[in-house]
Amino acid sequence: MAQLSDDCFAFGGALLSVEQAEALIAERVPPLAGVATVPLHAARGRVLAEALRAGVALPPFFNAAVDGYAFRHADLGAGETALPLAGRVAAGHGGGPLPARSAVRIFTGAPMPPGADSVLMQEDAREADGAVLVPPGLKPGANARPAGEDVALGSVALAAGTRLHAPQIGLAAALGNATLGVRPLVRVGVFSTGDELASPGTALGPAQTYDSNRFTLLALLGGLPVVATDLGILPDDAAATTHALAVAAGTQDLLLTSGGVSTGEEDHVRAAIQHGGSLVFWRLAVKPGRPAAMGVIAGTPVLGLPGNPVAAVVTFLHLARPMVLRLAGARPEPLPRFPAEAAFSYRKKAGRREYVRVRLAPGTPLPRAEKFEREGAGLLTSLTECDAFAELPEEVTAVAPGDSVAVLPFAACF
Ligand code: AMP
Ligand code: MG
Repeated sequence: MAQLSDDCFAFGGALLSVEQAEALIAERVPPLAGVATVPLHAARGRVLAEALRAGVALPPFFNAAVDGYAFRHADLGAGETALPLAGRVAAGHGGGPLPARSAVRIFTGAPMPPGADSVLMQEDAREADGAVLVPPGLKPGANARPAGEDVALGSVALAAGTRLHAPQIGLAAALGNATLGVRPLVRVGVFSTGDELASPGTALGPAQTYDSNRFTLLALLGGLPVVATDLGILPDDAAATTHALAVAAGTQDLLLTSGGVSTGEEDHVRAAIQHGGSLVFWRLAVKPGRPAAMGVIAGTPVLGLPGNPVAAVVTFLHLARPMVLRLAGARPEPLPRFPAEAAFSYRKKAGRREYVRVRLAPGTPLPRAEKFEREGAGLLTSLTECDAFAELPEEVTAVAPGDSVAVLPFAACF
């Protein structure tokens, strides 16, 4: 861990942009060391430790892409050509070379007989008197798959730092790998903070509300290469918060908290980070999501996310997700964004980025972004009933119907 210095972002009036926060995370948080070998069935969601080179070509040999008839394209005449059938080759079996001016019955995945270069699909073929009738117009190489057309022998099939999802695991298997070298899972401890919070399943006292953030955050972490631990609810108490963070820092690679990170007298997370370690930044120029803090306690990064549930999700996506990916040694994965047409009017202050919850509806040429009726960083239904955040940049002060806006479909990140 690089030595962290207190800087203006931590204490000054300046609010950080998401990019500045991401840059600080990239600069200050190194990937965890180590490599583990896991079987393919345990590799889903893990991060590939080293580049995977193809030990075989894919496909390994020249083969038929369809059921039909293999022949040499140069044997075809200008019109329909009758080629006597000289044999049959099925998938998993080899055959001899193709005799001159003849064809071979062939099935998908079977090796092309040496000398053959093209395949007529059986739906387009007729057989008569022991010959196949090949209509004109077929291109050389039709319906045949050259060796290595997917992956060349010895080439890098998957780069180091690739996250292993179903397609990557399938590719590794196709290249003959039974196991893969992966990065260690990131141990993430999740706290909620607040005297008002009750755990779901317990009775709700007066002035209490159920803790949702802990479960949202644990569920968000479920899609990432982590071992997440539920560390419960911290009271609004400075000493208890400082102590709990210091203890957890000893067993986790990353700590996430929510709530208690604003400027109120009952907000103790930022001070606890300062007492137990050092603060890297505090406060983002983002709405919802302004009161977010990052620091380091005993070498363990700590992210203090805001308490309001929507702000916690916004800051998770922009801070916690890249931090986890960084610790996991994964290549950065920018959040998905695409253009949409605003179907709403909106006014905002310059100088901060806003995430407006929207529903996406089909539209031409762009999908339409319809704004959720109500605003408020605490409205959980604004997430359950929407698909995306419309991302309104710092310099924008107004949005009118018909404007093009970038949308971030958050369901894709969950
Ligand atoms: P705070 O930043 O601690 O002042 O919290 C801001 C708002 O978010 C308050 O209304 C809190 O009650 C609410 N809040 C904080 N933490 C949670 C949580 N874990 N689950 C649900 N709401 C929360
Ligand atoms: Mg609180």
